[in-house]
Amino acid sequence: MEFEVIIIGGGLAGLCSALHLSLRGTKVLVIEKQEYPQHKVCGEYISNEVLPYLQSLGFNPFDFGAKTISELTLSTEGNQSISAKLPLGGFGISRYCIDAELSKCAKKAGATFLQARVMEVQFSEEQFEVSTNLQEVFRAPLVIGAYGKRSNLDAKMKRPFMLNKSPFLGVKAHFTGDFPANKVGLHNFPGGYCGISKVENDKINICYLVDFQTFKKYNSIDEFQEKVLSQNKFLKEAFVKYPMAFEKPITISQISFSEKAPVENHILMCGDSAGMIHPLAGNGMGMAIRSAQMLSECILNFNKGELSSRQTLEESYQRQWNKEFASRLKYGHLISRTFRMGLLSEILMLLLKLMPRLLPIIVKKTHGKVMRTI
Ligand SMILES: Cc1cc2nc3c(=O)[nH]c(=O)nc-3n(C[C@H](O)[C@H](O)[C@H](O)COP(=O)(O)OP(=O)(O)OC[C@H]3O[C@@H](n4cnc5c(N)ncnc54)[C@H](O)[C@@H]3O)c2cc1C
Repeated sequence: MEFEVIIIGGGLAGLCSALHLSLRGTKVLVIEKQEYPQHKVCGEYISNEVLPYLQSLGFNPFDFGAKTISELTLSTEGNQSISAKLPLGGFGISRYCIDAELSKCAKKAGATFLQARVMEVQFSEEQFEVSTNLQEVFRAPLVIGAYGKRSNLDAKMKRPFMLNKSPFLGVKAHFTGDFPANKVGLHNFPGGYCGISKVENDKINICYLVDFQTFKKYNSIDEFQEKVLSQNKFLKEAFVKYPMAFEKPITISQISFSEKAPVENHILMCGDSAGMIHPLAGNGMGMAIRSAQMLSECILNFNKGELSSRQTLEESYQRQWNKEFASRLKYGHLISRTFRMGLLSEILMLLLKLMPRLLPIIVKKTHGKVMRTI
């Protein structure tokens, strides 16, 4: 079978690209190494900016029990806290659910899926060759790299960010209990921060990011949670009050927020492969979905001849990507760094308490406008 676009990775960026392009008649192959459904380390709070777009793709998260989230409670290591209405709000849905359901929508729209790990991508004479661990080779004129934060392919391509330190670890599990469905909690502790919010089936998702230097001083996740996370009273209460619904938490390591290029070796990068925002901003999934829309539109314009060459396509996508995301990434880094600086974060919190209108302004700096429909 001939494909016009090969998408490497079937997370939110890859799935939304597959769905958008398939609905517009493009022949797409998605190569995803894991099977669906699968739990992923993620805070599972998605900004409402993506909602009209997702619905126009034929996916409505509320059909699958997503929770409407309208309020944020933020706390510091020193246990000062503030609550505020979220400017746009969002919804809570697990990656276990949304990735699997979006893959069904994409298949229905005509996308082909293959469960395999991409091992190599070669480009010559305007054609890509994509090789998998199943010893198959697929060819197409365009490749989308939607393979997430860090992959074997980044090492193969010698992407510069791979030389930088990747000092963060992510931990997540689902819990049961009576956490308010309309709230997302963002709680700082020494070395990291933790998100709490509800997803479908009334499960509570608790997910945290911590720098590895802090984490490795402890012997286990349990000990770390008891001795470090529990210094924050909101987290202490959550770990005491809510029984875990997973057998054990899931983890990912080597998370990096270094700058990346949105196009590398002619591969059009989408989602975290193009750049990752600090999870404290709660908008990585929003950015993955927005970049999928932006890239799909560029590819459709290229296929219609409105973008006259590969170079114009690449330049157009890079330009749009930087315009849309560069400042969000900058603010995301700045805010998360500030909240990790003990005294400064307490001062910032005092300021927020004195001027509560500042919080929605800060949130807006890391979010975009409501997305257009397809
Ligand atoms: C601790 C933590 C908490 C977060 N919380 C939130 C939050 O609350 N809200 C929010 O909006 N964002 C959050 N994020 C960010 C969000 O998870 C990411 O931005 C989002 O998952 C990006 O989607 P993606 O499709 O780019 O990547 P992914 O969802 O990671 O998908 C990439 C896919 O590629 C596949 N893959 C990788 N390599 C290969 C290969 N060689 N061959 C085939 N397949 C491959 C993987 O299996 C994976 O399925 C959080 C991130 C972390 C680390």
